[in-house]
Amino acid sequence: MDYLQKFAGQVRSRLAIAFLVNNLLIIGGWYLAANVFHLSGWQFWTVLLIIPIITIVIWPLIMTSTLLQPLRLIWQAILHVSPTTDSSTGAPEIDRLRLGRELVTNLTSQIYQLASVVGEIESTKRKAPEDLHSSFLANALPLPMTVLDKEEKIVFVNDALCKYIKRGADELIGQNVYTILDMSFSSHDTFDKWLNESKQNAATADHSWERVRLGLADESNALQFDLAAHYNKGNPSGFETLLVFFDHTQQYSQDDQAMGFVALSVHELRAPLTLLRGYIEVFDEELGPNLNSELKGFMGKMDAAGQQLAGFVDNILNVAKIEDNQLTLQLREENWPSIIDSVVSDMRLRAKVRGLELKTDIQGDLPTVGVDRYSIYEVLANLIDNAIKYSKTSKEIFVTSKLNSDGLVETSVKDFGLGIDASVLPHIFDKFYRSHRNRAQIGGTGLGLYLAKSIVDALGGQIWVSSKVDEGSNFTFTIIPFAQLAGEQKDGTSGSVSRGAHGWIKNHSLYRD
Ligand code: ADP
Repeated sequence: MDYLQKFAGQVRSRLAIAFLVNNLLIIGGWYLAANVFHLSGWQFWTVLLIIPIITIVIWPLIMTSTLLQPLRLIWQAILHVSPTTDSSTGAPEIDRLRLGRELVTNLTSQIYQLASVVGEIESTKRKAPEDLHSSFLANALPLPMTVLDKEEKIVFVNDALCKYIKRGADELIGQNVYTILDMSFSSHDTFDKWLNESKQNAATADHSWERVRLGLADESNALQFDLAAHYNKGNPSGFETLLVFFDHTQQYSQDDQAMGFVALSVHELRAPLTLLRGYIEVFDEELGPNLNSELKGFMGKMDAAGQQLAGFVDNILNVAKIEDNQLTLQLREENWPSIIDSVVSDMRLRAKVRGLELKTDIQGDLPTVGVDRYSIYEVLANLIDNAIKYSKTSKEIFVTSKLNSDGLVETSVKDFGLGIDASVLPHIFDKFYRSHRNRAQIGGTGLGLYLAKSIVDALGGQIWVSSKVDEGSNFTFTIIPFAQLAGEQKDGTSGSVSRGAHGWIKNHSLYRD
């Protein structure tokens, strides 16, 4: 109000000055006309009339321009913040104003404040329905979901996830996802591995996993689900990773039970199978020399079939054990070439039945290795068995072994058969995985490579494959020399090292902090 009074005073004084000047001009004109120019009659009255006429025209012009200047600047400020006018209207330049500057400064700042408040109200009005919408959608979604920020902390959980994992949102928000979700994956393609790779190489990425397990804090049965994730680097809202869970606990548990049941039944095959194979061996020894070549061939085929069946039984029983984390390996000092020789000589007959020759090339001075003899036999037997099955019409399979540049014993099984399509290579070690192309023609369970990988992993080695369709495959794995086990705790008098083969791979990040 003070500013307004000050402005009124300024206007009054301007008007007073204007009247004063105006009157002085009239008096001055009268004086000059009468005393200096000595005018009289109509000339004198003409001058006296002209002076007010001129001032009547000029004064309003000067006064309106001066008095309206503050109003013009306020008007300009309103236009400047108004969303409906074109954006070319600039901010008013109040500094140059001499009349009512304080009043105008005060009024324009209030106009700007009002405009910003209105802007905020407008934007919240615009946003609110969207936010409400998305949180309504996320919470109404019958699928558990969560959102992580760039530090992998949980920034959102929907109601379905809270119910699913039996935790309240307040316990979860702000926590690192790995400390909350104790997830295990059926292969090394884990969530944290994918997320780390995506962070390094991608702006956005999507991925999904099947058969993920989640241990619950209250130690009730693990949940099993498929998982889908979306990653968006540097999302402005801070939401980087979205996880959606598709519950299959019931179905997968039934599968697990089925696997347990199959394992139980298969176990019953073991005793009669061992008996049959024993008799085949006895017959072969006793009758072999007297049999004609055709009957000898039959005997060989019977033996090979018995061996294949025994391998199949062992695979199923071992996978069931791995599933239950029950397969324990005893790593002892072993002579590797002698193990290769025993596997190759056992498999030679099967290869021969298929018209294949098994050739070996083993480096002479290999160090002793730290392996579980029984399990590593299975790894090599499975790889050679596959090489025989998928060799098509080729004639040779090579088994080679050498010490590699990392000081590990590296062994390869190379065939020249069907080969594997590049698109299926990433899944080749997955449980139950069988390539589409040949599963109809060639029998199998899709467990051999899964088992081989689980065992090699447990022994501290690695396994990989290079392959080309119609040219063949080369499966390679490493095992560690016994000397490298020297630092590990050995069991009592046996001097062996125990390791477990695990079917479930944890998110590695759990072990990081
Ligand atoms: P299976 O019982 O089907 O042989 P594996 O786990 O041993 O199961 O192998 C998985 C799949 O990998 C096979 O179904 C086959 O498609 C492919 N495979 C494995 N070894 C070879 C090979 N040497 N040559 C071509 N394909 C192979």
